[in-house]
Amino acid sequence: MDKKWNKIRQDFPLLAEKMNGEPLAYLDNAATSQKPRAVIAAIKDFYEKENANIYRGTYALSQAATAAYESARKKLAAFIGAEADEIVFTKGTTSAINLAAFGYFRWQLGPGDEIALTAAEHHSNLIPWQQVAKATGAKLVFLPLDKKGAVDLAGAEKVLTSRVRLLALAQVDNVLGTEQPVKELAAMAKKQGALVLIDGAQAAGHLPVDVKELGSDFYAFSGHKMLAQTGIGVLYGRRELLEQTRPLEFGGEMIREVSLTDASFKPAPQKFEAGSQNVSGAISLGAAVDYLTGIGLEAIRDREASLGRQMAQGLEAAGATVYGYGGGIVAFNLPGIHPHDLATALDAQGIAIRAGQHCAQPLMDWLGVSAVARASAAFYNDESDVRALVQGVSAAKEFFNGTR
Ligand code: PMP
Repeated sequence: MDKKWNKIRQDFPLLAEKMNGEPLAYLDNAATSQKPRAVIAAIKDFYEKENANIYRGTYALSQAATAAYESARKKLAAFIGAEADEIVFTKGTTSAINLAAFGYFRWQLGPGDEIALTAAEHHSNLIPWQQVAKATGAKLVFLPLDKKGAVDLAGAEKVLTSRVRLLALAQVDNVLGTEQPVKELAAMAKKQGALVLIDGAQAAGHLPVDVKELGSDFYAFSGHKMLAQTGIGVLYGRRELLEQTRPLEFGGEMIREVSLTDASFKPAPQKFEAGSQNVSGAISLGAAVDYLTGIGLEAIRDREASLGRQMAQGLEAAGATVYGYGGGIVAFNLPGIHPHDLATALDAQGIAIRAGQHCAQPLMDWLGVSAVARASAAFYNDESDVRALVQGVSAAKEFFNGTR
C-alpha cells in the first residue's frame, strides 16, 4: 500500500524541492495543489504540438486544439456525472459562483425570497449572495452549525421554509474540512421548491462527486485545487437552468448573429465562454481528471482522511488546540502564539502551512478566534510530512515559550 503511494509521490516533481534549505513538507493543499508530471506534460504537449486558437480555424491545427478543448469538457462531465453541454469553463470557483449568482439568481429573486447559506462559507460563496440580496431585495438566512461545524439537520429543517429559493453551501469547508450532509440538505431544500448550488472547491478531486446524486442544480469547482492549472474551473448547471442563465461577458465566439445594434447568442455552454479561452487550462484539467480517476477517488478520500487524522492527533499531542479536521484539512492554534508567527517558524523548517482567516471571516467569529493555522494534506503527502509538521510545531512551541 505504502509502495503505491510512494510511487505516486514521485509523480510530483515540486515535492522533491527544498524550502529554506530544508526538505519541503507541502501542507497547503487546500490553497492549491501541486501538479503531477502527467498534467505538466499535457500542458507542454499542447504548446509543443497543438497550440492554436479554438473554434476559428479552418486548418487542421486549430481543429485539433478545438477537439482537445471539447474532449476536456467531456472528461469533466463524466467526472461529475453531467452532460458535456452542462459544463461551463470558468476561471475558477469564484467566477463560477458569480456566473450563477449574477447570470441566474439575480434575475429570479425578489423581496420576500430567501437565500440559505452557512456561517462556514468561503467568502466566494458568501459575498456574491450578499450582493444578489442587495440587488434583488432577497434576504440571507443561515443554517445552524453543530459543534463540529456540520449543519444541524433538525435546525436546518426550520430554516429551509418555502421562502427559501436557493440553498448555497460548500460540500467541504476550507478551514475545518467538514463534509456537509449535502445530499440530505439538498433533498430538504428541494421539498420546499428551492434550487441548490454546491461550492465543490474542496470536494472535487478529493472524493467521488455525482452532481445528480447530490441533488445539485449548480456545482462550482477550481482546477488548481485538483492538480490542474490556475485560471480554469467549472460551473456545472442543469441544462434548463443554463438555458435561462444570462451571460456576464459579451464578445467574440459567444454569438450566433450580429448586426450593428443587436446580437443573438449561441446555446450554453458557448454563450458563457466569450473571447479566447484558457485552452491549455482546460486540457490540464482533463489530464488531472484522468490522473485522479486512475488512482480512484475513494482511495484518495481514505488516504487524505488518514493523513488528516494523523496530523490532528499529532498536533493535539504536541499541545495544539485543534478546532476541527476532516479529509486532509486540520485547523489549529498553539495557545498564546499567533498563527502567523507559527507559520513563519514552520517556514524556516521547510514546512508550508497557511495561517490567517482563510477567506472565512464569519467562521473565525463563529470559532471565537481572530485567525487559525491550517495544515492541509493531499494524497501525495506522506507520514514524513506529518512527522515534520508535528516536530516543527513542537519545536516552535519550545522556541516561543523560551525553553529553547
Ligand atoms: N470555496 C472554497 C470552499 C474554497 O476553498 C475556495 C478557495 N480557497 C474557493 C471557494 C475559491 O476558489 P478560487 O479561489 O479557486 O476561485
